[in-house]
Formats: sequence, C-alpha cells, structure tokens
Amino acid sequence: MPRITSVTVECKCGQDIFKYHKSGTGRLIKCFVSKISTDYISLLKKLPTSSAVACSKCGERVGVVQMIKGQVAVKLNQGQIKPIRIG
Ligand SMILES: [Zn+2]
Repeated sequence: MPRITSVTVECKCGQDIFKYHKSGTGRLIKCFVSKISTDYISLLKKLPTSSAVACSKCGERVGVVQMIKGQVAVKLNQGQIKPIRIG
C-alpha cells in the first residue's frame, strides 16, 4: 500500500485551493478529483463544465481539468501554486 499524505494545495497569493490525498512520494502534479478531501474554492461544483481552475481570490489559473485514465483530474499550474513535494 502506498503511503497517503494529506496536502493542502495553495495559490501563490495564499488562498487555499483544496486538500488532497496524495499517494506515494514526489512532486504533486496531477490531482484526481475523487481524492480531493476539502474543496475550498467550490471547484467541484463547477465540474465538469469548466475546464480551467481559477483561484477564488486572485483569479489566476491554478490548474486545468483533464481526463486521466478515465478519471477527472486537475493538472496543476506549477507556476501559480506553492510547490508541494513529498518525501
Ligand atoms: Zn490566488
């Protein structure tokens, strides 16, 4: 079983975006929507009609919605979030 770590994805402006259950180690790049535990910006309500994920505070794009292995996922915009690396 991979290790599961609860991480908070934050925009560079300081706004919390969502809390995510990351499995394993390494850099957080893609987030499956099914593993988001707390949604701070009402992201899940906008899915799947919206393809861009914008920060609710500064309006910058923090990620894009993609289908990965048949699941809805958010690919994070690494330039707009605080870096997350586990391990
Ligand atoms: Zn922001």
